[in-house]
Amino acid sequence: MRSLSILGATGSIGASTLDLVRRNRDMFRVVSLTGHSNVVLLAQLAREFSAEIAVVGDEALLPDLRAALAGSGIEAAGGAPALIDAARRPADLTVAAIVGCAGLAPTMAAIEQGRTVALANKEALVSAGGVMTRAVARHGTTLLPVDSEHNAIFQCLAGNDVAHVRWVTLTASGGPFRDWSTDRLHLATPAEAVRHPNWSMGAKISVDSATMMNKGLEFIEAWHLFPVGVERLRIIVHPQSIVHSMVEYRDGTTLAQLGPSDMRVPIASALAWPARMATPCEPLDLAAIGTLTFRAPDEVRFPATRLAREAVMAGGAAAAVMNAANEIAVAAFMSGQIAFTRIVQCCEDVLACGVPMPPQCLDDVIAVDREARIRARETMALAI
Ligand code: NDP
Ligand code: MG
Repeated sequence: MRSLSILGATGSIGASTLDLVRRNRDMFRVVSLTGHSNVVLLAQLAREFSAEIAVVGDEALLPDLRAALAGSGIEAAGGAPALIDAARRPADLTVAAIVGCAGLAPTMAAIEQGRTVALANKEALVSAGGVMTRAVARHGTTLLPVDSEHNAIFQCLAGNDVAHVRWVTLTASGGPFRDWSTDRLHLATPAEAVRHPNWSMGAKISVDSATMMNKGLEFIEAWHLFPVGVERLRIIVHPQSIVHSMVEYRDGTTLAQLGPSDMRVPIASALAWPARMATPCEPLDLAAIGTLTFRAPDEVRFPATRLAREAVMAGGAAAAVMNAANEIAVAAFMSGQIAFTRIVQCCEDVLACGVPMPPQCLDDVIAVDREARIRARETMALAI
């Protein structure tokens, strides 16, 4: 039996992870579960899985969490430092599934324990970059990618030397607006943006999929996780989301990972790694699917992937700046303050203000993130 903590247990990745744990109760013992605002669900999950501790990120909700856990014997805590403490509790495996840079400090705390971290929280890696990968190396941590593309690449690289890689190709569904004209994109609403055609996900990543910033963030994520160099990383649009990514080797062999568009598959791969565990997902029926199609991304309508590539080339803290600007712009779009097409424009505008030096430690990353958020708000206020 392995001990397991889930940072972001009340979200979409949290739900998929706990669904697998529920079906395999003899495999896992739950240590920490965290949420931010959904105290009712957090307390319910903590009771169901007999967690040691439940932590709510929003400290004002701690009294509600305490009340909901009364008599259960489960510890309750609240606030950002408590999230970090929860991440430090000994656990064989931690699933890092908080959304946004808010997950960075708890994810780093889990990494510093030197055990295994299954990483969904891509914004944390995009922002912290070398600070995080150096911590992984320093603490001897096993970092398993949960993002479906990166999990696919991880599987396609297994047993191979990266020196033989010709291409790492990230597939992209293209999101709900894949075939929309630029004129129509200007008018896209939050409700339309979160309606992803293939995947069921949290709101923020759904909007990122619609702008293609998700693929931009994933490009940077892949650059950190798989040291093949930026010139060997590319993106291809694959509307069916069946091929989750591929690796081409110099002998002409291409290995791809295929599976249903269900995050329980890559999560199961990380939970059981290096073994395998069953999932309730339907077997892949390629005859029924019939056709798999691929096309080049259109960086004129969807400039986010160009921006991400440029951020990698620019180095320094560019990726952290871009990520922070994107988080602010997505929130502004969701609350009706800016048009859909302003999201990526805001990132470009903030990057154009200049890029700080590469962060050397977690505090540097947090400072860059904070500053870029201020810039993003200023930039948007000027444009409105
Ligand atoms: P959700 O929005 O569904 O869930 C986010 C989780 O983070 C919730 O538990 C939420 O708590 C918590 N949270 C939100 N804000 C804060 C905060 N300020 N401090 C602490 N906790 C916070 O997101 P997803 O599950 O969709 O995504 C999680 C991460 O995984 C993201 O980085 C995403 O990019 C990545 N990912 C997701 C995929 C998916 O299919 N969903 C696929 C690949 C990657 P509460 O709900 O209680 O407020
Ligand atoms: Mg992905």
